[in-house]
Amino acid sequence: MSIISNKLKKVKMSATSQMADAVFQLKAQGKNIISLSVGEPDFDTPDNIKMAANSAISSGFTKYTQTDGLVELKDAIIKKFKTENNLNFGYDNICVSNGGKQVIFNAFFSTLNKGDEVIIPSPYWVSYPDIITMCGGTPIIAKTYMSEAFKLTPNILKNSITSKTKWLILNSPNNPTGSVYSSEELYQISKVLEKYPKILIMTDDIYEHIIFDNRKFVTLSEVNSVLNERVLIVNGVSKAHAMTGWRIGYGAGPSLIVKEMAKVQTQSTSNPCSISQYAAIEALTGPKHYLLDWRNIFEKRRDTVVSILKQIDQIDFSTPEGSFYIFPSIQKLLGKKYDGQNKIENDTDFVYQLLKSTGVATVNGSAFGCPGHFRISFATSESNLKEACCRLKSFVSKIQ
Ligand code: PLP
Repeated sequence: MSIISNKLKKVKMSATSQMADAVFQLKAQGKNIISLSVGEPDFDTPDNIKMAANSAISSGFTKYTQTDGLVELKDAIIKKFKTENNLNFGYDNICVSNGGKQVIFNAFFSTLNKGDEVIIPSPYWVSYPDIITMCGGTPIIAKTYMSEAFKLTPNILKNSITSKTKWLILNSPNNPTGSVYSSEELYQISKVLEKYPKILIMTDDIYEHIIFDNRKFVTLSEVNSVLNERVLIVNGVSKAHAMTGWRIGYGAGPSLIVKEMAKVQTQSTSNPCSISQYAAIEALTGPKHYLLDWRNIFEKRRDTVVSILKQIDQIDFSTPEGSFYIFPSIQKLLGKKYDGQNKIENDTDFVYQLLKSTGVATVNGSAFGCPGHFRISFATSESNLKEACCRLKSFVSKIQ
């Protein structure tokens, strides 16, 4: 009898963590590594948020809280949805969890039975398929194309739906592609979904505030309220407020599902950290000037990366409209040799050869369900980005 459960056997370690381990080892050997593989803002959590956490500690708010989140935090979340997204939620519609990731896990754990299908547009965030598999569901990958800015179209969606479809996941701004859906694109998708009233929709809006070129963020529920009874929004403070380590995410959606998500939490982690919850209240209700400052910094970095990638003929890409990632194609380099020796058979060879020869860490596209690409994160300084992209350019020039 195997020690490890059958349900875990199909689950992989996250590829981003594997790259992080490789970077760690090389740094420990004293190598000069520039990591473009990270999935978190490089800014520090703002001081007012840290102070709110300090004051929670000194006031003794260090005990269990309501499992699904403090009432004051739910108030702040409800207000956020009202003012920023024009959506109305009550307490029963909100569950606060240990990061957006736990919201996603709770939702699938609460709703998926064996054989239930979840449509995931690819390229996708690495964790979706594994979380779905852990919860007994079947990930159905709906391939999108760089020529269509990696967006799910009504046709691709229609072709992916079967009688077993239980959920569709939408992630905008997107990790890893940086694509952002417009209201019109979401509306067209919503018209398809109107015809399938049993399909639930998860909109992962975690990068909501990182959006470029004066675009306005829109979420599916705003665009077509007919679907609201079956939309679960995933959001949190990790990416917007540089609070990845604090572990606060929240789900907002139908009370029937949200109640069950809270049940999963009562029997697993209990409430998210009380101190982090007070910090999240400050993040949502306190001053927010840094959101715009950081967005502008990310946009400038995006421009820097784009301008250098444009000089590399063998690399194609779609310009990111949000998040802090770009997802170039290396199709033109596959099958060629680096330095006349090592053959670049696939995207995994490419990123590890790049790391070994130049010290630049990125993530292979296969990890996001899209071989032949790689992901660059621009959540690092302008000078690091310039240096890393120059190393990338010289690396590619040696592949023939
Ligand atoms: N959704 C997407 C698309 C992400 O990229 C991430 C983190 O990388 C998450 C959700 C989870 O964020 P967290 O659990 O840190 O709130």
